[in-house]
Amino acid sequence: MKRLLGIIGHPVHHSLSPIMHNTALKYLGIDAEYLAFDVLPEELGHAVLGAKALGFLGLNITIPHKVEVMKFCTPDKISSQIGAVNTIRFDSEIQGFNTDATGAYRSLKEAGVEVKGAKVLIIGAGGAARAVSYILHIKGAEVVVANRTVSKAKEICDRLGMEYSGLDKLPQLVRWADIIINTTSVGMQEDKSLIPKRLLDSTKVVFDIVYNPVETRLLKDAKEVGARTIDGVKMLVYQGAESFRIWTGIDPPVDLMEKAVRKELKN
Ligand code: NAP
Repeated sequence: MKRLLGIIGHPVHHSLSPIMHNTALKYLGIDAEYLAFDVLPEELGHAVLGAKALGFLGLNITIPHKVEVMKFCTPDKISSQIGAVNTIRFDSEIQGFNTDATGAYRSLKEAGVEVKGAKVLIIGAGGAARAVSYILHIKGAEVVVANRTVSKAKEICDRLGMEYSGLDKLPQLVRWADIIINTTSVGMQEDKSLIPKRLLDSTKVVFDIVYNPVETRLLKDAKEVGARTIDGVKMLVYQGAESFRIWTGIDPPVDLMEKAVRKELKN
């Protein structure tokens, strides 16, 4: 019998997860299909329990449900500490995981970036920043989170004992950091960056988790000044690969998944 997987969010029509996961399922000959479901916040509980009743293998959870969904599952240790779940698996229980953290860490690792002991500036304090700052902190980086709304950066950092700041200190922080990670939505479908290019002259590594466009203004500027750059497609694919492994126990073909996503983004 064909098994079902999916992503629930609102809105979700733009999601690249169906193409990415269906590519892997097809390649591995797994009789399953991955679909996208637009679910309103007030329907979240019904959607999760309904998917379990219908025999789904698991789900990805995206904006705006990553925190709220924790009420409907048993989060593992990492997702509890992050305070957000982006993957659930249906066993006898409904298990919650956060693969954004693993996806971000693997993106840096596979690019040959040493995180332990590095000075990392994370810009943004939304859902993605929670996962990214958590994993870098536990992997031994010195993390500072800078955000437009300082209270949100404070909330993330106080939990883990990290430093935080407003965006007014960006010039000093950009010069201080070995690695800069943009986790804000600035640059998504727009030619904008929060960091003026002239500040990047001594920057070594820039990672932008925004993936549409693949090469954001920040990454273009960083490339032009000779920094190593990592785009958001890498994190998207690696978080997806980790979810896939959680559902199926199989490591999926990340190269094929990445190719499918990049092709879709080109179109
Ligand atoms: P979110 O929870 O809504 O957080 C958005 C963040 O962006 C907040 O820190 C917000 O600051 C900041 N921001 C938005 N507009 C801004 C502006 N004009 N100036 C300064 N800061 C601004 O969103 P999220 O879930 O963290 O996602 C953020 C981005 O990451 C999105 O583009 C998403 O597509 C991408 N993402 C990529 C991956 C991947 O796998 N590559 C995974 C997750 C997310 P305030 O707190 O001040 O509002």
